[in-house]
Amino acid sequence: MSDITVNAEQLTQSVQQVLQAAGSSVTEAHQVAANLVMANLSGHDSHGVGMLPRYVDAVLEGGLQPNTGIKFIMDLGTMLTLDAQRGYGQVTGVQAMELGMARAKQHGSCIMTLANSHHLGRIGHFAEMAVAQGLISIHFVNVLSRPVVAPWGGGDGRFGTNPCCIGIPLPGEAPFLLDFATSRVAQGKMRVAHNKGQRVPEGYLIDEQGRPTTDPGVVVVPQPGGMLGALMTFGEHKGYGMAMACELLGGALSGGGTWHRQADNARAVLNSMLTILIDPAKLGTADAFAAESKAFIDWLRQSPPGAGFDHVQIAGEPERAARVARERDGIVVDASTWQEIVDAGRKVGHVIA
Ligand code: NAD
Repeated sequence: MSDITVNAEQLTQSVQQVLQAAGSSVTEAHQVAANLVMANLSGHDSHGVGMLPRYVDAVLEGGLQPNTGIKFIMDLGTMLTLDAQRGYGQVTGVQAMELGMARAKQHGSCIMTLANSHHLGRIGHFAEMAVAQGLISIHFVNVLSRPVVAPWGGGDGRFGTNPCCIGIPLPGEAPFLLDFATSRVAQGKMRVAHNKGQRVPEGYLIDEQGRPTTDPGVVVVPQPGGMLGALMTFGEHKGYGMAMACELLGGALSGGGTWHRQADNARAVLNSMLTILIDPAKLGTADAFAAESKAFIDWLRQSPPGAGFDHVQIAGEPERAARVARERDGIVVDASTWQEIVDAGRKVGHVIA
């Protein structure tokens, strides 16, 4: 089998059919499929359709519950405590954001926790919902799946790729959308690199014995003795600190739990998330916010290009540029990933045409 190039609509349909065969309603299957394809369109293949085989396995194991929505644990108006009951994160995350955004519009802010969601995918998806309504959105997320990231100064994986995301609507400009894993790279990008037979730069990984390596396989395929290597955090001790903040705020504060045990082979990926929503229109600084954010961005853009760059970008631009290109040229799905998707379909009795 070779790599395939497919348009977003066809890919959404194929993924939707597998999800339906795995038990999701048409609406849920479409929402999850469209979200995964949007991750591919945005240039983040790590959080795109390549996740489907894992989701199917998680459903078959019982760790992911199709057609399950959020449950209220506590509601104080501007503070919401929610439980996603292991439903698809692409659905429970959107449900939670809709609630939180309505509260922030009404009161000016909302602090919301969402515990026990299945994989929330690209966290920027939720910040994009908020900035589209003029809201600032800040997210701290932990991941209960496999302890794949090493603490700074440690020699094995102790926590997940714990993403952080900040979305800021900018008057007269496209929004600032910063959305990143606190690991040096996302785990899914190691799967993609491994499937493509590529090496990764130095400083990303340690092997199962704590030694630096450029082989992404060390965190994808069990190494001798069944052990796995680990990803490094970005920014050395600083990224490690951010990852810990995600574990404490996303995992402990939400009630979803932190990682402190040996890994098992369960396929479910659970995310818990703290979200802070702010309506900038209610702070009384709208004029200053508009003028100062524009002046600062203009100032940044006047910076001469550094070596190897053609211009300074603002967070969110690479994803928007990728969407334009991939909407036009189609999405390339590598051969191994496509084979895994076809196999996932077969497991639930669906043959992808
Ligand atoms: P990344 O390293 O590609 O960084 C992406 C961020 O950096 C974006 O905000 C992007 O706009 C910005 N950026 C990229 N190049 C830039 C440039 N030249 N100038 C200015 N800004 C620039 O992303 P990542 O760390 O690989 O994360 C990818 C995705 O994985 C994210 O969407 C994240 O939410 C998701 N993720 C999810 C989970 C989960 O468990 N749900 C876990 C980890 C990561």
